[in-house]
Amino acid sequence: MNWFEYVAFRILRLFRRLHITRLIRVGPTRMFMDYFKDYEKVSAVRGIFGEKTDDVLRNLKVEFIGFGYMGVDNTDGHLLVNARYLKNGDKTDIYLDVVHELCHVKQFMEGKELFDERYDYVDRPTEVEAYRYTVQEARRLGLSDQRILDYLKTEWMSQEDLKKLAKYVQVDC
Ligand SMILES: [Zn+2]
Repeated sequence: MNWFEYVAFRILRLFRRLHITRLIRVGPTRMFMDYFKDYEKVSAVRGIFGEKTDDVLRNLKVEFIGFGYMGVDNTDGHLLVNARYLKNGDKTDIYLDVVHELCHVKQFMEGKELFDERYDYVDRPTEVEAYRYTVQEARRLGLSDQRILDYLKTEWMSQEDLKKLAKYVQVDC
């Protein structure tokens, strides 16, 4: 193989790799509304997006992941959902998580940094805002402080952090 052939070979291989990368990184193609029904009618959701609610939810994409619970991708603001959690998780928890994550979708649309590393998770202003709104909705549903505390508790949160978060959202510990 002469140098020209070698370079041509390398370029071809690079193209092929780029193509594969592009295929893998095609992004989420599933739509939120196909999996989460009637959320556009929920007043807590309308409280987040106002008259833009239908528009936002109609354009919101969802990607199913194999770990964790739910989240928002901070590159384009789509929803990330663990398919197994959606199938087997507590329905009230899932509902509250969707409300919480939609708060992050709104924050993303406003240009806020969702993963501001200057703060710990429970101290992050975007998290506190989303949790406050979610707890307000949990109270409206009639959930007790104990039940809300159970909801706030996750296996990766320390007791100290849970207490801090409970204080921020005014839930009795
Ligand atoms: Zn959050």
